[in-house]
Amino acid sequence: MRCPFCQKPDSRVIDTRAADDGHSIRRRRECTGCGKRFTTYEAVETVPLIVVKNDGRRESFNRAKLLTGLVRSCDKRDIPLERIEALATDIERELRNSMTREVTARDLGELVMEKLKSFDEVAYIRFASVYRKFADIGSFQAELTDLLKAKEQGSGVLAN
Ligand SMILES: [Zn+2]
Repeated sequence: MRCPFCQKPDSRVIDTRAADDGHSIRRRRECTGCGKRFTTYEAVETVPLIVVKNDGRRESFNRAKLLTGLVRSCDKRDIPLERIEALATDIERELRNSMTREVTARDLGELVMEKLKSFDEVAYIRFASVYRKFADIGSFQAELTDLLKAKEQGSGVLAN
């Protein structure tokens, strides 16, 4: 990547992240010659993201599918669609930022749960109960207990 200021071909990448549109990668670069900084954008299409399913099959990451799952979990929660879409974008961005080409369905599920937990508790519990139906019920129950405990402590603070 040639520096737009001095044309020197070497630059150092100082930051890499998904652009706000979620469809390109933004790199902040610093020229090793003149030290000036500039930004480049690369189409994400060149970096396909593959989801490895539990049975080993691979499929392209499907944003629509993720959104459908989120919308279903947020059913009747009075959450504007824009907020749910923003959450999907956030999750996709985090995956793209990790610069992994492959993510297991399990890790993707864990990431979604982690995000939902702070987004909407009911949606989180719904998603987690579906997602973990065949996984470790014990650890899920332990997590629910922790969540309820944290909630009790939270309301305790409010009461005081
Ligand atoms: Zn330069």
